Amino acid sequence: MQKILVSRCLLGHAVRYDGGAHGPFDQLQRWQAQGRVVALCPEVAGGLPTPRPPAEIAGGQGAQVLDGRLSVLTVDGDDVSAAFIAGAEQALALVRQHDIRIALLKARSPSCGNRENYDGSFSGVKVTGEGVTAAALRRAGVQVFSEEELPAAEAALRELEA
Ligand code: SF4
Repeated sequence: MQKILVSRCLLGHAVRYDGGAHGPFDQLQRWQAQGRVVALCPEVAGGLPTPRPPAEIAGGQGAQVLDGRLSVLTVDGDDVSAAFIAGAEQALALVRQHDIRIALLKARSPSCGNRENYDGSFSGVKVTGEGVTAAALRRAGVQVFSEEELPAAEAALRELEA
């Protein structure tokens, strides 16, 4: 059975930077009941506390953080790139361990966002981009969806299992 990597905050785990969570999502609950879900919060797995200061990537490109060309900075100006990269490496380890081909990650997060990100100005401005973990997964050939794309993720799963 195909396993799916899922952002922990989408499963109701209170791991968001502000101590909050999201959900429930019926689709994710079904996947959990089927035993498909491998849950991860990359930021917590990378060693950051909850709650924690919000963080953004200037320009929103997580791949550039992986390449050491950009930093993830908190609103206070602290460089948390190492923790973000450590979280991405844990995601890749889970992908290898469970032969994961699909991830369902929280939209617009500096770790998990798959299409959009905030621009680093902490003013709510969004840009096309992706989080650090989402970029690492995409590079590893994992299809990354957000909670706003659940039907597409389900279709990708059906295709893989056809
Ligand atoms: Fe953790 Fe990703 Fe959710 Fe942020 S979006 S709380 S990094 S699982």
